[in-house]
Order: sequence, then structure tokens, then C-alpha cells
Amino acid sequence: MTTAHWLFGDQLGPHFLTPGDDGPEHDAPVVIVEARSVFRRRRFHRAKAHLILSAMRHRAAELGDRASYIRSDTYREGLHEALGNSPVTVHHPTSHAALRLVRSLGTVTVLPARGFLVPQPDFTAWADGHGGRHLRQEDFYRWVRRGHHLLMDADAPAGGRWNHDHDNRDPPPKDVRTLAVPPPYRPREDAIDEEVRHDLDRWERSGDISFVGNDGPRRFPATRREASAALRRFVEHRLAGFGPHEDAMLQADPVMSHSLLSSSLNLGLLHPAECVEKAEEAWRSGQAPINSVEGFVRQIAGWREYVWQLYWYFGDDYRHSNALGHRTPLPDWFLELDADAVTARCLATTLAQVRDTGWTHHIPRLMLLGSYALQRGWDPRAVMDWFHRCFVDGYDWVMLPNVIGMSQYADGGRMTTKPYTSGGAYIHRMSDLCTGCAYRPTERTGDRACPFTTGYWAFLHRHRQRLSGNTRMSQAVRGLDRLRDLEELLQRSRDEGDDPP
Ligand SMILES: Cc1cc2nc3c(=O)[nH]c(=O)nc-3n(C[C@H](O)[C@H](O)[C@H](O)COP(=O)(O)OP(=O)(O)OC[C@H]3O[C@@H](n4cnc5c(N)ncnc54)[C@H](O)[C@@H]3O)c2cc1C
Ligand code: SF4
Repeated sequence: MTTAHWLFGDQLGPHFLTPGDDGPEHDAPVVIVEARSVFRRRRFHRAKAHLILSAMRHRAAELGDRASYIRSDTYREGLHEALGNSPVTVHHPTSHAALRLVRSLGTVTVLPARGFLVPQPDFTAWADGHGGRHLRQEDFYRWVRRGHHLLMDADAPAGGRWNHDHDNRDPPPKDVRTLAVPPPYRPREDAIDEEVRHDLDRWERSGDISFVGNDGPRRFPATRREASAALRRFVEHRLAGFGPHEDAMLQADPVMSHSLLSSSLNLGLLHPAECVEKAEEAWRSGQAPINSVEGFVRQIAGWREYVWQLYWYFGDDYRHSNALGHRTPLPDWFLELDADAVTARCLATTLAQVRDTGWTHHIPRLMLLGSYALQRGWDPRAVMDWFHRCFVDGYDWVMLPNVIGMSQYADGGRMTTKPYTSGGAYIHRMSDLCTGCAYRPTERTGDRACPFTTGYWAFLHRHRQRLSGNTRMSQAVRGLDRLRDLEELLQRSRDEGDDPP
């Protein structure tokens, strides 16, 4: 009898059902379990819950009679209901907790992970070969480019350089409200979406599950067909402009030239190889310049892949890292995504984007939301949980390195060489957000003091000793000595309390 195959809700693309030695049996019956307890454990953004359930139910509908779709309280119960004690295969899940679960079920054979470019043992060998501790994303990225012959001309990087970051850090163009690039793909809802929404309403009414944020209309792909259309549209119409303003922010244009593909990649609807290959084809056929294509390839074959590998390499204890000893709980206005309570224009704008869509691009995540949390000494695990719950593309594997490592520096520098935080001057340079704000980016004391500027200096002061030993931060720390109003600034920072800025 053919062994059944279990698909998790982030294993929904065709590559998770390709048979082979490291895959399910040919025409294996498929089991998909919708476990309600997942939504009881965390207070998710409603748009995220909607997207995931819609994607899972759409996949079951596509597979028709081949799939059993089980609604149960837990995975364990659902699997037992579908198969009793019969054997089942599953591809390596994407979290430590899920891996523990599948290993604890005696009937499950765990197959290698799919949906990434580099097999885990290859990464372990690479990382161990680099001494294990001070790994560099840039080295990893070049190794992946070489190994996958990605954007390469023989042994040399195509376009003459490995790294085009220098061309991809422009501020937004002056005097524009939007980048005026063609809009991204947006899906159309159907009866399955309607059914999911109805179920979410029912769960909320029953009182044991609650959500945060606004739901609908669905903005991100839930099927392979939709995700492929989104990728096509990005490559054909938006990739060319991806590079130059990658780090910039515009109040009226939250998406700019970003791809919006993270949720589709993380649901397993797209494979990273097809994304980078299509981007490379666009460069080779003259449709997109090298800086944009290399920038996009770096995000996927560099950052995304690196983050996935580090999640497993650093191990489950990494989540407990708290090198800076930050323990402050998150305030209610942040937990509730209460953008209307916030005066600081940059933070209000970004929090409203998260509340309304469950998404903002990389720089608002890192240099606004994450940076604000870091400056205030918020508990890194609580910050991680917040990102995980509130973002449509948030999963444990992607959160740990991005939040514990990159954004909160809680690992003391295992992932990045310095903490990512800034005063208002950086935000002013890279956005139009300060225009019209009640605060002034250059002021650090007084009624119009920018909370990012005050917070930046207070953060440097708090961790002066540690940061002065970091070559990339020592000059900034020395700047504290030039501040004549340091005491006043620190008092202002203390007075902030939990209030929204
Ligand atoms: C604090 C913080 C939290 C983040 N949380 C998540 C998250 O929960 N899920 C997530 O997928 N990304 C996360 N990122 C990375 C990045 O911000 C998002 O992948 C990106 O903003 C998604 O939008 P996009 O698809 O338009 O990306 P683009 O700017 O178009 O980039 C292309 C793709 O590159 C990949 N990518 C780029 N950077 C990263 C990265 N650091 N880690 C993983 N993938 C990356 C994504 O798949 C993305 O779709 C986080 C970054 C920070 C700083
Ligand atoms: S002045 Fe400060 S708070 Fe206001 S938008 Fe600029 S950086 Fe943000």
C-alpha cells in the first residue's frame, strides 16, 4: 500500500509532492491538518490567519480526492484521525517545535527539507569550515552564487562585481509621493476566502481565539497560480526598479519596488530557485539592470537562505539569547497596533501598515519597529513573538535570526557585526516621513525632540562599555562625550515611560 504524505501549512507548492528517494511515494495520498490550537497559542494578525487557512484549504481543493483535509484541535489528533497508526512521510518541518513533534510520533518518517537552495549538511560543513562563530553573510552568499552558478560568468560574478549595495542605497527621489512603478499583483478572493472569514468570525465569537489587526481583502497569494502570477508581474514590471531605492521609505508608497513575495516563498508556493533564475533571465535579456537583479538575488539566495540555515545551525537555545539584558515588556499601544495613539509620524505610519496589511518592507521593520524596541530595551523574545504574530510572512525560522540576531542584537553579535539602530537623521535622509512630523529629527531634548534621536543616544549610553569595544560602534559611542545635554536627554528618555511617542 502507498504510504501517505503529510503536508504542513507552509509546504503547499508542487515541489513538496515531487516523488523520489528523498520525497513522497508516487501518487501518495496527502493529509493536511488544520490544527486550531495553533491559533489559541498566539494572538495572530487576522490577515495572517486568513492567508494561511485560505492557502491550506485551496491546496486541499486542488488535490481533490487525493487529499484528506482534517480539522482538529491538535496535529497529533488530526493525524490520528486521518491515518490511525499507519505510516506517513513528511518533509522536514520548518521549526524546532514541529520537528520535535513529528519525531515524537512513532509513525512518521521525516524526509529532507525542501524549498531551500542549500542542503543543511552542506551549510554545516561550510560554517564549521569558517570557524562557526563569526560567519559572514557575504561569504555565504558568494559561496551559494558559485555553487549554484547563479549570476556568474565562468568563475567571475556577472556584471563584474559581487556586490551592488553601493548603488542600492539611494534615498527616495525628491518631491515625489510615490515611486510611480507599476502596482504589484493582488489576488481576487473567492468562496474559500469567504468561508475562512466566516470561520474566523465564528472562532472569535466563541471567545477562545482572538486576533489583532484588520482583515481583508486578502492581499497576498494563496495558491500556486496566484504566486506564479505575482512572480511574473514582479519580474516583468517591477524588478528593474528594485535596486536603487531598496532602503528608502515613502509615506504614501509602502511597497515601492519590493516584490511582496515573502509570504508566497514562506508558504512554499514558490521555490527560491525559480525566483532567482527568472531574475537572472531578466538581466541576461536586458530587461533589468544588474544592480537591481543582484540586489534581489542577494535577498533570496543570500539573506533568506542564510537566515534559514542559521536557524538550524544556532539551535533552539538561540531564542533565549539576551546579551544586552533587555527585559522591558512591550507596551499595550504596540501590542494592539494602535497606530492612532502614536504622534511620531514614522512609527504611526509603519504601525498602521502592519495593522492594515500585516506587512511592511525591510527598512521599516529594521530601522523603525525593531530599532525603537532595541532603544527602549524591550524583551527580545517578546519582540520576536510580536513580529511572528503580526506579519503575514512570519515563521519561527525566519524570526529567530532576523529579530533575536539582526534587529535586537540579543545574540551579542553572532549574526551581525553591530546593532542596527539610528537617530532621526537617518530616517530623515531615507524617507519623507519627517516632513510634517510633530518632532524634529535633529533635536534630542525639548518638546520637539525626535524619539529616535533621544532613544539612540540613551541606548549608546546604556551600553557604552560593551559598544565602545566594537570597532564599528566606537566612534558613535565617543560622540556621547560631545553631548552637553546628555543628562537632560537621559531624563527625557526616562520620562517617556510606556507612553506612545
Ligand atoms: C525585524 C525583521 C523581521 C523580519 N521578519 C521577516 C519574516 O517574518 N518573514 C520574512 O520572510 N522576512 C522577514 N524579514 C526580512 C524582510 O524584511 C522581508 O522578507 C521582506 O520585507 C518581505 O517583503 P518582500 O517580499 O517585498 O521583500 P523584497 O524586499 O522584495 O525581498 C525579496 C525576498 O528576499 C527575502 N528576504 C530578504 N531579506 C530577508 C531576510 N532578512 N530574511 C528572510 N528573507 C529575506 C524574502 O523572501 C523576500 O521576499 C524581517 C526583517 C527584519 C529586519
Ligand atoms: S522626526 Fe523623528 S519621530 Fe518624526 S518622523 Fe522623523 S524620525 Fe520619526
